[in-house]
Amino acid sequence: MKKSYNSLAVYIHWPFCESICPYCDFNSHIEKKINQLRWERALLKEVQYFYEKTKTHTVKTIFFGGGTPSLMPPILVNNIIDAIKKLWRTSKKLEITLEANPLGFDISRFEEFRGAGINRLSLGIQSLNDKSLMFLGRQHTRRDALIAINAGKKIFNQCSIDMIYALPNQTKDSWKKELDEIISISGNHLSLYQLTIEPGTVFFKSRINPATEHTAIQLYRQTRKTAITSGFLHYEVSSYARSGHKSKHNLTYWRGGEYIGIGPGAHGRLLERKTTIATHQIHSPDNWLQAVEKRGVGLAKARPLGAKERIEELFLLGLRITEGINRARFKQQTGHALDRVIDQKILNELINSRYLEVNKTSIRATEKGRLCINAITASIVSKKTALIN
Ligand code: SF4
Repeated sequence: MKKSYNSLAVYIHWPFCESICPYCDFNSHIEKKINQLRWERALLKEVQYFYEKTKTHTVKTIFFGGGTPSLMPPILVNNIIDAIKKLWRTSKKLEITLEANPLGFDISRFEEFRGAGINRLSLGIQSLNDKSLMFLGRQHTRRDALIAINAGKKIFNQCSIDMIYALPNQTKDSWKKELDEIISISGNHLSLYQLTIEPGTVFFKSRINPATEHTAIQLYRQTRKTAITSGFLHYEVSSYARSGHKSKHNLTYWRGGEYIGIGPGAHGRLLERKTTIATHQIHSPDNWLQAVEKRGVGLAKARPLGAKERIEELFLLGLRITEGINRARFKQQTGHALDRVIDQKILNELINSRYLEVNKTSIRATEKGRLCINAITASIVSKKTALIN
């Protein structure tokens, strides 16, 4: 009989950046002197730690995120990829992504990353307009961005571009011009995010106002229409791909799959005897490093998710993607049939008001529904679900 192995995604967090962008709420830090050898040993220790827990899994994707992982020495990236390939069974079409900033783009360095095994580049371009780049606190210019995109497409099989829109005072016309240009020079994947002002960020403290909700919705619709007309599939709230180029790694998150998070502040989801365990690594880079050196892992906590919490999480994630929540997968992940955990009366109301669509295999949000996923989840996950365990 053919054996079946669970799929696994591996996330590696590199927490350092050259400067901190005023909108950023990621785990990012400026550190002038980084002891590369200590960091390499520590990251490899966590790779080993999580391998012991997921030996029978097949690694399908690896993602170097941050921070700015393009600041990592290529040899360190190489050694981590090698270690993963030596330990786990890996997929033949292993997707290995590295997030990169266009600043100081250096072709030979990116060729080294490709040599290390990176086959997908995710470029944080954010804007093609110098004024907007300055507002966003980015250190690169439009010129740097164009050079990086051109080289990124040549060097890597897959190249994704991140852009931010709905900046204060951004008009439909100015965003459309920028979007048309980025589409004309883009690779096969676009992540188009709206600017949000998160607590704790410099923008939040300086009381920067985001675009109004009305403008944000208008810009979202315009973005979607333009990208689709240009041949992109809209497959997640902010993600657009040409056919065959969806991000497999991110799909693992949205489909509620298993992943491990290595490095400071990284988190993971592992299935243990039908319970999903949420893992969180220590947030501070220094404390994480010391913990790994002492104990072999920088785990801050690992806790089982309650049934209701996990079901809500699967709704919040699954309604983001246009394919929706797959009924069979949901049953496998939670042990419960989808119809048993939702309020049928509210479901029918949401279908009638065109927020949701259902068929034999899935429940999915419509375009209208994708604008209010939190409210849909809060209303549809039935009160009975709290009793399930
Ligand atoms: S480069 Fe990215 S991770 Fe670093 S501060 Fe800017 S937004 Fe945050």
